[in-house]
Amino acid sequence: MQRFETAKAAALELRPDEPVYCFHPEVLKADARDFMAMFPGKTAYAVKTNGEPMVLKTLAEAGVKAFDVASPGEFAAVRAVAPDAEMLYMHPVKAQSDIRLALETYGIRVIAVDHEDEIVKLTRIVRALDIDPGSVEVYVRIQTKGHAAYELSKKFGAGPAQAVELLQRLARTGYKVGICFHVGSQIEDPDTYDRALKTADWVRNRAGVELCGLDVGGGFPAEYGHDPNRKAPEMPSLSQLMSRFRGDLREWGFGDTPLVAEPGRVIVARAFSLIVRVLLRKGRRLYINDGIWASLSDSWTGKITLPARFIPDPAIRSRNGDVSNIVPFKVCGATCDSVDILSRPFWLPETVDTGDWIEIGHIGAYSLSLRTRFNGFYPDTFVEVATPFHEGGKPEGFASLETMAAG
Ligand SMILES: *Cc1c(COP(=O)(O)O)cnc(C)c1O
Repeated sequence: MQRFETAKAAALELRPDEPVYCFHPEVLKADARDFMAMFPGKTAYAVKTNGEPMVLKTLAEAGVKAFDVASPGEFAAVRAVAPDAEMLYMHPVKAQSDIRLALETYGIRVIAVDHEDEIVKLTRIVRALDIDPGSVEVYVRIQTKGHAAYELSKKFGAGPAQAVELLQRLARTGYKVGICFHVGSQIEDPDTYDRALKTADWVRNRAGVELCGLDVGGGFPAEYGHDPNRKAPEMPSLSQLMSRFRGDLREWGFGDTPLVAEPGRVIVARAFSLIVRVLLRKGRRLYINDGIWASLSDSWTGKITLPARFIPDPAIRSRNGDVSNIVPFKVCGATCDSVDILSRPFWLPETVDTGDWIEIGHIGAYSLSLRTRFNGFYPDTFVEVATPFHEGGKPEGFASLETMAAG
């Protein structure tokens, strides 16, 4: 992989017409280590967030020893780069053949369920393979309520009374049992974990079984941009959130329970930025060479304002406007699809024009893992960049991220 000091240096040297992913391995390591230092339990990185071999390998180097996996493709991806890592199979709804593969071929012994028929599937395989149920940890996924950019409790999770029954049934069969939840991705309300812990406490007290662990899932928010003309959303910093979370855990009596977290977004978001090119400026619209069917679908559906930095093409000699005037541009994606328009604008200097580049920051989560080949566009160029997006200066203009940090 080619290395550059900054994304701007990469853009000006390569003059790319295709999107270029800028990998920041030191940021990835630092963010993973920070999370592990703040979380009082096992950290299992959620592979679906970004399962690139370079990411999994760098995380293993940073000391991540466990991975949350959901499919045969993810089992193989983790095994290939981190053969000694533990895998936690936390998808509540699984194919029977995948359960078998997990237990038999990959030696996975931690698994999640949210329905009695999933227990039937699991037990069928456990018996067929002559595995001692006492060597398998089965986590019952409970429903939670809260506010997040992505709410998942409508799709997965057992109601509290049903969770009690599932735990008791699993314990009777001889499994080790735990409770897990996943509050959704990018939480927008700091009370979310407290509410989930309250439900977990209720379920534990009614079930009367010994818990081998509590898995608190993901959802920890990454830092993005926001409309600089509005007040910054009031979310505590990650370290404030985690310190409150540790207090909540003690308060709800989970201080002595072995804990697991499955962070994805918060660990990998800052590890990549993305250089895109403005193919055409049409008034306050920018047509760029990426979009919702490639790297930007998460920002589209999650209504996330991405921080963007202007990289002007020095070949453009005359420009209109004032570079310090930051305005919102509607962003149209590369495909011919009419829905391929971002739901949130990029905030950029009004001088941006056809042929310029934009460095989009904090794009490591749910970006390249969601790329499609739709319309023949498939960004797949990577460079390594030493300077993290959040440390880069203001090349010519500003990024909404910097406005956010100031406000
Ligand atoms: C997606 C997912 C995660 C990761 O969520 P983030 O919000 O990215 O931290 C963790 N656990 C499960 C079960 C998931 O489905």
